[in-house]
Amino acid sequence: MTRCLLLVMIFFAACNKSPETIETGKPPLDFSTPDNAVKSFWKFAIWKDTSTVDTSTYQLFTRNRIDKQKLQRTRSLEKARKKHAFSDNTITDVQVKSESYAVVEAKEFTEYSDKPTDTRYVLSWEQGHWKIDDYQHKCYTCDGTGMQTDYDQQLKDIQRGLYRTDPKKKCEQCKATGWKSYFPEPE
Ligand SMILES: [Zn+2]
Repeated sequence: MTRCLLLVMIFFAACNKSPETIETGKPPLDFSTPDNAVKSFWKFAIWKDTSTVDTSTYQLFTRNRIDKQKLQRTRSLEKARKKHAFSDNTITDVQVKSESYAVVEAKEFTEYSDKPTDTRYVLSWEQGHWKIDDYQHKCYTCDGTGMQTDYDQQLKDIQRGLYRTDPKKKCEQCKATGWKSYFPEPE
């Protein structure tokens, strides 16, 4: 959830610069190929996490709280500058499926885990650039298989005296695609 929120914040920061954003060192964006677009997204995320200070809601808080928040922010920026989790991200597969549609798969790190997450970017060719249309992670429920254990069926089987260790059904979380978008669907 935190990561989802972070991504939404990155997304809006990309669209709508806040006056408090410090532009120094902003990485150039390269949309020339699908994988360069994904790498640009990572560079932008690293830059944003290490170079900006958001003061937009400070007027709602006491001086004491603001000072503590600033100190916490400074420390987290120092930590992120030393080594941002995204700096170990790797692209594992690039598939240009048509002139206007490509899929890039990657292994991505977070500050919360040493294990990478399998991710997937869906890109479209738009006005001369490869643009990210969707950003997904491998489904946690089915681990990308598209199938999950059917506990209702398992119970019914047991009641009928059958025992199958692992009856399966289509994964409800990812609609059997194996992937889930980081972006929430508009309500
Ligand atoms: Zn699933």
